[in-house]
Parts: sequence; C-alpha cells; structure tokens
Amino acid sequence: MSERTLCMIKPDGVERNLIGAVLARIESAGLKIVAIRKLHLTKTQAEGFYAVHRERPFFQSLVNYMSSGSIVAAVLQGDNAIARWRELMGATNPANAAEGTIRKDFALDVERNTVHGSDAVNTAAQEIPYFFNIMELQE
Ligand code: UDP
Ligand code: MG
Repeated sequence: MSERTLCMIKPDGVERNLIGAVLARIESAGLKIVAIRKLHLTKTQAEGFYAVHRERPFFQSLVNYMSSGSIVAAVLQGDNAIARWRELMGATNPANAAEGTIRKDFALDVERNTVHGSDAVNTAAQEIPYFFNIMELQE
C-alpha cells in the first residue's frame, strides 16, 4: 500500500554536505520525493515537532541541537514507505545500526544521527503537515 512519510536531514547532515548522499539513497531505493524544503527551525518549532518526547531526559539537548543549524525536510512516498525509510535510516543509536544504513555510515552519535523518519502512519500524518501544506503535497 502506498504511504507517505516525513524525512528530515538533521543539522549534522546538512553541515557535513550529506544532503545529496542521503537523497541518493532514498531515490536508489525507489522512494519518490514528493516535496522538499531546506529550513532552520526555531527552538519553539523544534519543541513542537518533538513534543512527544518532552518528558525524556534528552529533550532539551535534542531541541537545542535541532535548532542549531539548517535541516532538510522532505515527504517520501512509496509502497510501505514508512518502514522502508526507517530501514534505510538504521537504528536510532548508530552503535546499534546495521551495516549499510545511513546512521551506521554517517551518524556522529545517538543525538546527531543525521536523519529522521516518521515511525507510524499516524505520526506521519501529524509530521507531514508540520512542514508542508496541501498545495505543496500535490503530485
Ligand atoms: N535521541 C537522543 N538520545 C536518546 C534517544 C534519542 O538524543 O537516547 C534523539 C535522537 O536524535 C533521535 C531523536 O531524539 O533521533 C528522537 O528519538 P526517537 O526515539 O524518536 O528516535 P528515532 O525515531 O529518531 O529513531
Ligand atoms: Mg522517532
């Protein structure tokens, strides 16, 4: 079933000129880039995006990091896109990420782990409109 998911290339990825490398893996895997934008989140916007994690010990550091530099946000589409993008990304902590995944190859540590991906249909449905409006999501 065709799905859409939200992808972000985090500040460590943009900073190290990894936008092209990440997008190449997405396209090589057959996922379509429906919409894409580069932006710099404010602290408040980063807090809103990660609100589900607000009680976690890493929240404040994560928000500071995610607002520390530019990111790229993109909407990916394809059969089973949510799980397929998470598979390309690899585990949250690069120390646990499988060989050949983006986080294994590029992440610096558990926080600066280069990419984000929605984790379920309902989170994708919340995260996509955080960055893109209906007109931007037309194919
Ligand atoms: N994170 C962190 N420390 C942790 C767990 C997560 O700094 O112990 C950061 C990391 O950047 C991660 C983000 O918080 O990508 C969101 O965490 P989540 O558990 O949702 O991981 P993800 O879905 O990104 O794999
Ligand atoms: Mg998550």
